[in-house]
Amino acid sequence: MKQMADVGFGMWKVAPEDCERVVMEAIKAGYRHFDCAADYGNEEAVGAGIRAAIEAGLVTREDLWITSKLWNTFHHPDHVEAACRKSLSDLGLDYLDLYLIHFPIALEYVPIETRYPPEWIFDPEADAPEMRRAPVPLHATWAAMEALVDLGLTHQIGVCNYNSGLLHDLMAYAVKKPSVLQIEAHPYLTQEKLIRLAGDYGLKVTAFSPLGALSYLELDMAKQGESVLTEPVVRDIADAHGKTAAQVVLRWGVQRGTAIIPKSSNPGRMRENLAITDFRLTDEEMAAIAALNANRRFNDPGVFCEQAFGLFNPIYD
Ligand code: NDP
Repeated sequence: MKQMADVGFGMWKVAPEDCERVVMEAIKAGYRHFDCAADYGNEEAVGAGIRAAIEAGLVTREDLWITSKLWNTFHHPDHVEAACRKSLSDLGLDYLDLYLIHFPIALEYVPIETRYPPEWIFDPEADAPEMRRAPVPLHATWAAMEALVDLGLTHQIGVCNYNSGLLHDLMAYAVKKPSVLQIEAHPYLTQEKLIRLAGDYGLKVTAFSPLGALSYLELDMAKQGESVLTEPVVRDIADAHGKTAAQVVLRWGVQRGTAIIPKSSNPGRMRENLAITDFRLTDEEMAAIAALNANRRFNDPGVFCEQAFGLFNPIYD
């Protein structure tokens, strides 16, 4: 069976007009695993990049691992297949390697023809725009995800942003088991218990935002001083290995057994983020980086849903 590469490439916040170039550059740099989502609003453009790379003879479809994600508004079992087919047609693919539930948050359905991607607000044009929850249980969504595997639309299924309680529950009702849990993880949010539990259940964990604050500066969800790359301990370890601070943080992620999916629009940093297999951190270095944990979550619906969409909506607490 095809393996998901430990270092993948994240597509969140890559502008559609940049996607074709970025995907081509990333494939040239050696990336084969791409982390996509309907909500990123760029799957058609990502698809153009994939197609261009295949047509240029750089890769075949079988060489690539393509992940996409079911958006919150499509959780009802009646809408899961259509959402998956939309991602497939935008990406220009006839199957996904992995399809994930993006958040354990069901929102009111917005038809694809009405607005796509629907994002968080039910109707942004309304007099009082609001984020509207939908009463769809996750077990019903999961059964519809399982049906996608039977249809051959995706080879594997999994979840994002589940905590340990939701994971126990999922493992109790899943007929087809999830293969991947994708969660925020970096040295400021090490998530040891959740990662251990996922491992006990046989899931691979993918760490998103593996560089921590960097992705959240432009969204005003982190402050400059919160970058793990400026931590003296990380810089000292980087100097000792002749590597960059980013490479040390990413190496730590892979060496602890998680997959990582760093995003970069810059070809030099794309290559830098892949070049982490030619050195090994010592146990002491691994522990020193893990000791930076501050349970600092940058991507927290319990914070941003209220700030940005006016609905208090914690999921981890
Ligand atoms: P990352 O940790 O990948 O950080 C990306 C930021 O770091 C960008 O600003 C990038 O800038 C910069 N950067 C990248 N490499 C370097 C480097 N070597 N040195 C210095 N700066 C660097 O954050 P993301 O939030 O993008 O997470 C990665 C992926 O995870 C996403 O793209 C998405 O696919 C996925 N994700 C999934 C979520 C989920 O809910 N399932 C939530 C959030 C993310 P530049 O481009 O200029 O290099």
